[in-house]
Amino acid sequence: MILPGATLGMLGGGQLGRMFTVAARTMGYRVMVIDPDAASPAGRIADEHLQAGYEDAAALDRLARECAAVTTEFENVPATTLEVLARRCVVRPGSRAVAITQDRIHEKTFLRDHGFATAPFAVVRSSADLEDAFAELGGPAILKVARFGYDGKGQAVVRNLREAQAAWNAMKHEPCVLEKRVPLDTEVSVVLARGIDNEFALYPVCENTHAHGILDVTVAPARLSAKCVREVQTQARRIAARLEYVGVLAVEFFVSRGRLLVNEIAPRPHNSGHYTIDACITSQFEQQVRALCGLPLGDTRLLTPVAMVNLLGDLWSGGTPRWERILQHPRAKLHLYGKHEPRPGRKMGHYTCLAASAARARAEALALRRGLARKAGRR
Ligand code: ADP
Ligand code: MG
Repeated sequence: MILPGATLGMLGGGQLGRMFTVAARTMGYRVMVIDPDAASPAGRIADEHLQAGYEDAAALDRLARECAAVTTEFENVPATTLEVLARRCVVRPGSRAVAITQDRIHEKTFLRDHGFATAPFAVVRSSADLEDAFAELGGPAILKVARFGYDGKGQAVVRNLREAQAAWNAMKHEPCVLEKRVPLDTEVSVVLARGIDNEFALYPVCENTHAHGILDVTVAPARLSAKCVREVQTQARRIAARLEYVGVLAVEFFVSRGRLLVNEIAPRPHNSGHYTIDACITSQFEQQVRALCGLPLGDTRLLTPVAMVNLLGDLWSGGTPRWERILQHPRAKLHLYGKHEPRPGRKMGHYTCLAASAARARAEALALRRGLARKAGRR
């Protein structure tokens, strides 16, 4: 076990790294963050911020020398970086799991090869592939770049082959997957942790609504039949086992005409798991520290129904939002990530609302959103 007092390394300085840093420092660990951005949310509150890229040899050397264990907050760290570090210190999750989940082609192929249902898809690496894929799937479909897409970026809905070709041209002929657009009853996700000796801890399944491809609202527990919840949990557990995963992992699912389809796997805590900070015995970030350090996993029980709402940069168009609206509510919790530039679509923070039922939590959270933004021109 790596115990408090040790230094933990974090690859990436975004909000997920920041919330990990808060959890780790609360428990008495030191945290060293690598991120090229001087003002990264995690870098600003870490014990040390190495302002460097993820392949910077000197920075990686320092990380390996000083950290007992290293983890990541985003899947786009080069797999070689994890391999280099793994020769010198504990690295969790391993490079194989990250390499699979950072590339949609590998990810979807991995799921298909292991018998998990997904939306019908085909791999696109050439114009001929695109024609074949479209002929096979038909429209409407979604063309998704294999790498570096997030929050609906790097995706285009295409209704015919002409649109598919135009979208692929706009993506500069990067490798892609073409995915059939499936009807959604709802979207759900689950965060889980797997410890070093095969120990599993699953969080409650939560229900997600997206706006413009970006997570908007999460509610826990999800309105799902007990059978469907068990199915989500079984599949997520199997995915983690097949990946030989150690750490915190999130799996996103579509529920389409009553059928469960795996959408995405994230090798890290997840936006839809932020509710665990305020509503569970152990937050997903404390759990990330525990799994990384080889500590026993914490209890994932939900203490109260909860809803989470993301705060995107758009909300700042008329000036700083009226935080007093959220702060006035006795069971609402405001989380801001310390980002200075509120760009449209950028995740600036979130809040949660705790209530006696999931429906109530959702209604109260959505009510708080009304009146949060100031009207443009009146600061
Ligand atoms: P990202 O990496 O941006 O989260 P996703 O593949 O999860 O990419 O897509 C974002 C959202 O777009 C999904 O949560 C869902 O709402 C919608 N979406 C993506 N793929 C499909 C699909 N095949 N059919 C229907 N909706 C989809
Ligand atoms: Mg997604």
